[in-house]
Amino acid sequence: MDLTPLYRKIVLSVAANRAVSAAAQRVGMKLGASRFVAGETLDQALETVRDLNRRGILVTMDQLGEGVHEESVAREMCQAYLDLLDGIARTGVNANVSLKLTQMGLSFNRQLTDEILLTIVRKAAACGNFVRIDMEDTPYTDATLEIYRNLREMGYDNVGTVIQSYLYRTKQDIQDLIKMNANLRIVKGAYKEPPNLAFPKKVDVDENYKQVVATLMENGLYTAAATHDEKIIDWLKQFADEKQIDKSRFEIQMLFGVRTSLQEELARQGYKVRCYVPFGRMWYPYFTRRIAERPGNFWFIVKNLMKG
Ligand SMILES: Cc1cc2nc3c(=O)[nH]c(=O)nc-3n(C[C@H](O)[C@H](O)[C@H](O)COP(=O)(O)OP(=O)(O)OC[C@H]3O[C@@H](n4cnc5c(N)ncnc54)[C@H](O)[C@@H]3O)c2cc1C
Repeated sequence: MDLTPLYRKIVLSVAANRAVSAAAQRVGMKLGASRFVAGETLDQALETVRDLNRRGILVTMDQLGEGVHEESVAREMCQAYLDLLDGIARTGVNANVSLKLTQMGLSFNRQLTDEILLTIVRKAAACGNFVRIDMEDTPYTDATLEIYRNLREMGYDNVGTVIQSYLYRTKQDIQDLIKMNANLRIVKGAYKEPPNLAFPKKVDVDENYKQVVATLMENGLYTAAATHDEKIIDWLKQFADEKQIDKSRFEIQMLFGVRTSLQEELARQGYKVRCYVPFGRMWYPYFTRRIAERPGNFWFIVKNLMKG
Protein backbone atom coordinates (compact mmCIF):
# COMPACT_ATOMS: atom_id res chain seq x y z
CA MET A 1 0.00 0.00 0.00
CA ASP A 2 1.40 3.42 -1.01
CA LEU A 3 1.31 5.64 2.09
CA THR A 4 3.02 8.61 0.40
CA PRO A 5 -0.23 10.51 -0.42
CA LEU A 6 -1.29 10.26 3.25
CA TYR A 7 2.17 11.32 4.49
CA ARG A 8 2.10 14.26 2.07
CA LYS A 9 -1.37 15.36 3.19
CA ILE A 10 -0.31 15.29 6.84
CA VAL A 11 2.96 17.20 6.28
CA LEU A 12 1.27 19.90 4.17
CA SER A 13 -1.51 20.33 6.76
CA VAL A 14 0.86 20.53 9.74
CA ALA A 15 3.22 22.87 7.87
CA ALA A 16 0.37 25.30 7.13
CA ASN A 17 -0.26 25.72 10.85
CA ARG A 18 0.77 29.23 11.92
CA ALA A 19 2.50 28.17 15.13
CA VAL A 20 4.53 25.53 13.27
CA SER A 21 5.47 28.02 10.57
CA ALA A 22 6.52 30.69 13.11
CA ALA A 23 8.60 28.15 15.05
CA ALA A 24 10.29 26.94 11.86
CA GLN A 25 11.20 30.49 10.77
CA ARG A 26 12.71 31.03 14.25
CA VAL A 27 14.87 27.93 13.98
CA GLY A 28 15.83 29.17 10.50
CA MET A 29 17.96 27.46 7.85
CA LYS A 30 19.38 25.20 10.60
CA LEU A 31 16.28 23.09 9.92
CA GLY A 32 18.19 21.92 6.87
CA ALA A 33 16.71 24.27 4.27
CA SER A 34 20.17 24.88 2.79
CA ARG A 35 20.00 21.44 1.23
CA PHE A 36 17.19 22.73 -1.03
CA VAL A 37 17.71 26.52 -0.96
CA ALA A 38 20.85 28.18 -2.38
CA GLY A 39 21.20 30.82 0.33
CA GLU A 40 19.27 33.88 1.37
CA THR A 41 20.98 36.41 -0.94
CA LEU A 42 21.35 36.85 -4.70
CA ASP A 43 25.15 36.74 -4.51
CA GLN A 44 25.10 33.39 -2.69
CA ALA A 45 22.67 32.00 -5.27
CA LEU A 46 24.74 33.25 -8.24
CA GLU A 47 27.77 31.46 -6.78
CA THR A 48 25.77 28.22 -6.73
CA VAL A 49 24.64 28.80 -10.32
CA ARG A 50 28.22 29.33 -11.46
CA ASP A 51 29.19 26.04 -9.87
CA LEU A 52 26.30 24.17 -11.52
CA ASN A 53 27.14 25.72 -14.92
CA ARG A 54 30.73 24.53 -14.50
CA ARG A 55 29.34 21.03 -14.18
CA GLY A 56 27.38 21.39 -17.44
CA ILE A 57 24.01 22.11 -15.79
CA LEU A 58 21.70 24.93 -16.85
CA VAL A 59 19.67 26.74 -14.22
CA THR A 60 16.36 28.41 -13.57
CA MET A 61 16.49 30.79 -10.58
CA ASP A 62 13.61 31.39 -8.21
CA GLN A 63 13.49 34.35 -5.82
CA LEU A 64 11.44 32.70 -3.09
CA GLY A 65 8.19 34.27 -1.97
CA GLU A 66 4.54 33.34 -2.50
CA GLY A 67 1.15 34.10 -1.06
CA VAL A 68 1.94 37.84 -0.92
CA HIS A 69 -1.00 39.90 0.40
CA GLU A 70 0.25 43.49 0.14
CA GLU A 71 0.84 45.59 -2.93
CA SER A 72 4.11 47.01 -1.57
CA VAL A 73 5.52 43.49 -1.08
CA ALA A 74 4.41 42.41 -4.57
CA ARG A 75 6.23 45.46 -5.97
CA GLU A 76 9.34 44.57 -3.95
CA MET A 77 9.17 41.09 -5.48
CA CYS A 78 8.94 42.64 -8.94
CA GLN A 79 12.05 44.71 -8.23
CA ALA A 80 13.83 41.61 -6.89
CA TYR A 81 13.21 39.87 -10.23
CA LEU A 82 14.46 42.88 -12.20
CA ASP A 83 17.63 42.82 -10.06
CA LEU A 84 17.88 39.08 -10.59
CA LEU A 85 17.73 39.50 -14.38
CA ASP A 86 20.42 42.18 -14.12
CA GLY A 87 22.52 39.90 -11.91
CA ILE A 88 22.30 37.07 -14.46
CA ALA A 89 23.23 39.43 -17.31
CA ARG A 90 26.10 41.00 -15.32
CA THR A 91 27.71 37.72 -14.30
CA GLY A 92 27.03 35.92 -17.59
CA VAL A 93 25.77 32.77 -15.87
CA ASN A 94 23.54 30.44 -17.89
CA ALA A 95 20.21 30.82 -16.12
CA ASN A 96 16.65 31.91 -16.71
CA VAL A 97 14.05 32.74 -14.04
CA SER A 98 10.97 31.07 -12.55
CA LEU A 99 8.35 32.95 -10.57
CA LYS A 100 5.01 32.49 -8.85
CA LEU A 101 1.99 34.68 -9.56
CA THR A 102 0.84 34.81 -5.93
CA GLN A 103 4.21 36.46 -5.33
CA MET A 104 3.04 39.23 -7.67
CA GLY A 105 -0.34 39.82 -6.04
CA LEU A 106 -2.59 37.31 -7.80
CA SER A 107 -4.56 36.45 -4.66
CA PHE A 108 -5.79 40.04 -4.20
CA ASN A 109 -5.15 42.18 -7.30
CA ARG A 110 -5.16 40.65 -10.75
CA GLN A 111 -4.48 43.96 -12.49
CA LEU A 112 -1.34 44.46 -10.41
CA THR A 113 -0.18 40.95 -11.33
CA ASP A 114 -0.70 41.63 -15.05
CA GLU A 115 1.27 44.86 -14.77
CA ILE A 116 4.16 43.26 -12.84
CA LEU A 117 4.39 40.28 -15.16
CA LEU A 118 4.55 42.49 -18.21
CA THR A 119 7.34 44.53 -16.59
CA ILE A 120 9.38 41.40 -15.80
CA VAL A 121 8.82 39.68 -19.16
CA ARG A 122 9.74 42.91 -21.02
CA LYS A 123 12.91 43.25 -18.99
CA ALA A 124 13.78 39.59 -19.62
CA ALA A 125 13.23 40.10 -23.35
CA ALA A 126 15.58 43.10 -23.28
CA CYS A 127 18.20 40.91 -21.51
CA GLY A 128 17.66 38.02 -23.97
CA ASN A 129 16.29 35.95 -21.10
CA PHE A 130 13.26 33.76 -20.41
CA VAL A 131 10.58 33.71 -17.69
CA ARG A 132 8.83 30.54 -16.49
CA ILE A 133 5.55 31.07 -14.66
CA ASP A 134 5.32 28.30 -12.05
CA MET A 135 1.95 26.65 -11.49
CA GLU A 136 0.44 26.90 -8.00
CA ASP A 137 -2.69 25.34 -6.52
CA THR A 138 -6.00 25.06 -8.38
CA PRO A 139 -7.60 28.38 -7.33
CA TYR A 140 -4.93 29.94 -9.57
CA THR A 141 -4.81 27.54 -12.54
CA ASP A 142 -7.19 29.46 -14.82
CA ALA A 143 -5.65 32.85 -14.09
CA THR A 144 -2.13 31.49 -14.60
CA LEU A 145 -2.98 30.04 -18.01
CA GLU A 146 -4.81 33.23 -18.97
CA ILE A 147 -1.90 35.48 -18.00
CA TYR A 148 0.45 33.25 -19.95
CA ARG A 149 -1.85 33.33 -23.00
CA ASN A 150 -2.17 37.14 -22.82
CA LEU A 151 1.60 37.61 -22.76
CA ARG A 152 1.97 35.35 -25.79
CA GLU A 153 -0.77 37.24 -27.61
CA MET A 154 1.13 40.46 -26.89
CA GLY A 155 4.02 38.90 -28.83
CA TYR A 156 6.28 37.74 -25.99
CA ASP A 157 7.82 34.36 -26.83
CA ASN A 158 10.32 34.46 -23.98
CA VAL A 159 7.78 33.14 -21.51
CA GLY A 160 6.56 29.68 -20.57
CA THR A 161 4.42 28.08 -17.92
CA VAL A 162 3.85 24.78 -16.12
CA ILE A 163 1.22 22.04 -16.22
CA GLN A 164 0.59 19.41 -13.55
CA SER A 165 -0.09 15.77 -14.40
CA TYR A 166 -2.05 15.17 -11.17
CA LEU A 167 -4.91 17.36 -12.46
CA TYR A 168 -7.68 15.77 -14.52
CA ARG A 169 -8.02 19.01 -16.51
CA THR A 170 -4.46 18.96 -17.84
CA LYS A 171 -5.22 16.72 -20.81
CA GLN A 172 -7.80 19.25 -21.95
CA ASP A 173 -5.62 22.27 -21.17
CA ILE A 174 -2.81 21.05 -23.38
CA GLN A 175 -5.07 21.04 -26.44
CA ASP A 176 -5.13 24.86 -26.46
CA LEU A 177 -1.51 25.10 -25.36
CA ILE A 178 -0.39 22.93 -28.28
CA LYS A 179 -2.17 25.25 -30.73
CA MET A 180 -0.16 28.19 -29.43
CA ASN A 181 3.14 26.23 -29.48
CA ALA A 182 3.51 26.83 -25.73
CA ASN A 183 6.79 26.35 -23.90
CA LEU A 184 5.77 24.05 -21.04
CA ARG A 185 7.33 22.48 -18.00
CA ILE A 186 5.52 19.32 -16.98
CA VAL A 187 5.44 18.39 -13.30
CA LYS A 188 3.45 15.89 -11.27
CA GLY A 189 2.14 18.62 -8.93
CA ALA A 190 3.16 19.62 -5.41
CA TYR A 191 0.02 20.96 -3.70
CA LYS A 192 -2.77 19.44 -1.63
CA GLU A 193 -5.68 18.98 -4.07
CA PRO A 194 -9.05 17.25 -3.57
CA PRO A 195 -9.84 13.97 -5.34
CA ASN A 196 -12.48 15.60 -7.54
CA LEU A 197 -9.72 17.70 -9.15
CA ALA A 198 -6.59 15.55 -8.97
CA PHE A 199 -5.76 11.85 -9.30
CA PRO A 200 -5.37 10.56 -5.74
CA LYS A 201 -3.17 7.61 -6.85
CA LYS A 202 0.47 8.06 -7.79
CA VAL A 203 0.23 5.39 -10.48
CA ASP A 204 -2.38 7.49 -12.35
CA VAL A 205 -0.37 10.69 -11.92
CA ASP A 206 2.69 8.95 -13.38
CA GLU A 207 0.76 7.48 -16.30
CA ASN A 208 -0.81 10.84 -17.11
CA TYR A 209 2.64 12.45 -16.89
CA LYS A 210 3.98 10.18 -19.63
CA GLN A 211 0.92 10.63 -21.83
CA VAL A 212 1.08 14.43 -21.57
CA VAL A 213 4.82 14.55 -22.31
CA ALA A 214 4.37 12.20 -25.27
CA THR A 215 1.55 14.34 -26.70
CA LEU A 216 3.56 17.54 -26.39
CA MET A 217 6.71 16.08 -27.91
CA GLU A 218 4.86 14.36 -30.76
CA ASN A 219 3.30 17.73 -31.57
CA GLY A 220 6.76 19.28 -31.85
CA LEU A 221 6.65 21.45 -28.70
CA TYR A 222 9.88 22.21 -26.89
CA THR A 223 9.30 20.30 -23.65
CA ALA A 224 10.75 20.63 -20.16
CA ALA A 225 10.16 17.40 -18.25
CA ALA A 226 10.62 18.24 -14.58
CA THR A 227 10.95 15.09 -12.50
CA HIS A 228 13.39 13.09 -10.39
CA ASP A 229 11.57 9.89 -11.20
CA GLU A 230 14.17 7.62 -12.81
CA LYS A 231 11.55 5.35 -14.37
CA ILE A 232 10.00 8.32 -16.14
CA ILE A 233 13.39 9.68 -17.17
CA ASP A 234 14.37 6.29 -18.66
CA TRP A 235 11.03 6.18 -20.46
CA LEU A 236 11.60 9.73 -21.79
CA LYS A 237 15.05 8.89 -23.13
CA GLN A 238 13.71 5.81 -24.89
CA PHE A 239 10.68 7.68 -26.24
CA ALA A 240 12.88 10.45 -27.69
CA ASP A 241 15.16 7.82 -29.28
CA GLU A 242 12.29 5.91 -30.83
CA LYS A 243 10.62 9.04 -32.19
CA GLN A 244 13.98 10.48 -33.26
CA ILE A 245 13.44 13.64 -31.27
CA ASP A 246 16.71 15.53 -30.98
CA LYS A 247 18.16 16.19 -27.52
CA SER A 248 17.96 19.92 -28.27
CA ARG A 249 14.13 19.71 -28.35
CA PHE A 250 13.64 18.89 -24.68
CA GLU A 251 15.22 19.36 -21.29
CA ILE A 252 15.10 17.49 -18.00
CA GLN A 253 14.60 19.70 -14.97
CA MET A 254 15.29 18.84 -11.34
CA LEU A 255 15.38 20.69 -8.07
CA PHE A 256 18.53 21.94 -6.39
CA GLY A 257 19.60 19.41 -3.77
CA VAL A 258 17.63 16.48 -5.19
CA ARG A 259 19.27 13.61 -7.15
CA THR A 260 22.38 15.70 -7.76
CA SER A 261 24.45 12.81 -9.13
CA LEU A 262 21.67 11.88 -11.56
CA GLN A 263 21.61 15.48 -12.82
CA GLU A 264 25.36 15.33 -13.48
CA GLU A 265 25.15 11.91 -15.10
CA LEU A 266 22.41 13.03 -17.52
CA ALA A 267 24.41 16.16 -18.41
CA ARG A 268 27.44 13.93 -19.13
CA GLN A 269 25.22 11.82 -21.42
CA GLY A 270 24.52 14.97 -23.46
CA TYR A 271 21.00 15.72 -22.20
CA LYS A 272 20.03 19.28 -21.41
CA VAL A 273 19.60 19.38 -17.65
CA ARG A 274 18.22 22.43 -15.88
CA CYS A 275 18.40 22.77 -12.12
CA TYR A 276 15.76 24.84 -10.30
CA VAL A 277 17.69 27.02 -7.86
CA PRO A 278 15.55 28.83 -5.26
CA PHE A 279 16.98 31.44 -2.93
CA GLY A 280 15.82 34.14 -0.54
CA ARG A 281 14.55 34.62 2.97
CA MET A 282 11.02 33.28 2.34
CA TRP A 283 12.08 29.65 2.09
CA TYR A 284 9.55 28.00 4.43
CA PRO A 285 6.61 27.05 2.08
CA TYR A 286 9.03 25.81 -0.59
CA PHE A 287 10.96 23.78 1.96
CA THR A 288 7.82 22.13 3.38
CA ARG A 289 6.71 20.99 -0.09
CA ARG A 290 10.09 19.29 -0.54
CA ILE A 291 9.69 17.57 2.80
CA ALA A 292 6.16 16.47 1.88
CA GLU A 293 7.39 14.83 -1.31
CA ARG A 294 9.44 12.20 0.43
CA PRO A 295 9.06 10.54 3.84
CA GLY A 296 12.89 10.21 4.08
CA ASN A 297 13.14 14.01 4.10
CA PHE A 298 11.24 14.19 7.37
CA TRP A 299 14.05 12.28 9.11
CA PHE A 300 16.48 14.64 7.44
CA ILE A 301 14.86 17.53 9.44
CA VAL A 302 14.93 15.52 12.65
CA LYS A 303 18.64 14.77 12.15
CA ASN A 304 19.40 18.46 11.55
CA LEU A 305 17.55 19.49 14.69
CA MET A 306 19.42 16.90 16.73
CA LYS A 307 22.72 18.23 15.40
CA GLY A 308 21.59 21.59 16.86
C1 LIG B 1 12.29 21.87 -11.82
C2 LIG B 1 11.01 21.62 -11.09
C3 LIG B 1 10.04 22.60 -11.07
C4 LIG B 1 8.83 22.38 -10.43
N1 LIG B 1 7.83 23.31 -10.51
C5 LIG B 1 6.62 23.03 -10.00
C6 LIG B 1 5.51 23.89 -10.22
O1 LIG B 1 5.60 24.93 -10.85
N2 LIG B 1 4.31 23.54 -9.67
C7 LIG B 1 4.15 22.37 -8.96
O2 LIG B 1 3.02 22.08 -8.51
N3 LIG B 1 5.19 21.56 -8.74
C8 LIG B 1 6.40 21.84 -9.24
N4 LIG B 1 7.44 20.96 -9.05
C9 LIG B 1 7.29 19.84 -8.07
C10 LIG B 1 6.65 18.62 -8.68
O3 LIG B 1 5.29 18.86 -8.89
C11 LIG B 1 6.80 17.40 -7.75
O4 LIG B 1 6.20 17.65 -6.53
C12 LIG B 1 8.24 16.99 -7.50
O5 LIG B 1 9.02 17.13 -8.64
C13 LIG B 1 8.32 15.52 -7.03
O6 LIG B 1 7.84 14.69 -8.03
P1 LIG B 1 8.79 13.79 -8.98
O7 LIG B 1 8.35 14.05 -10.38
O8 LIG B 1 10.20 14.06 -8.73
O9 LIG B 1 8.37 12.30 -8.69
P2 LIG B 1 8.16 11.49 -7.34
O10 LIG B 1 7.46 10.25 -7.77
O11 LIG B 1 7.55 12.33 -6.28
O12 LIG B 1 9.64 11.16 -6.91
C14 LIG B 1 10.48 10.28 -7.65
C15 LIG B 1 11.78 10.10 -6.88
O13 LIG B 1 12.49 11.34 -6.88
C16 LIG B 1 13.11 11.58 -5.64
N5 LIG B 1 12.52 12.78 -5.01
C17 LIG B 1 11.41 13.45 -5.38
N6 LIG B 1 11.19 14.54 -4.61
C18 LIG B 1 12.19 14.54 -3.71
C19 LIG B 1 12.53 15.41 -2.65
N7 LIG B 1 11.81 16.46 -2.31
N8 LIG B 1 13.63 15.11 -1.91
C20 LIG B 1 14.39 14.04 -2.21
N9 LIG B 1 14.12 13.18 -3.22
C21 LIG B 1 13.04 13.42 -3.96
C22 LIG B 1 12.89 10.35 -4.81
O14 LIG B 1 13.95 9.46 -5.02
C23 LIG B 1 11.60 9.78 -5.39
O15 LIG B 1 11.46 8.42 -5.18
C24 LIG B 1 8.63 21.16 -9.71
C25 LIG B 1 9.61 20.18 -9.75
C26 LIG B 1 10.78 20.37 -10.44
C27 LIG B 1 11.79 19.28 -10.49
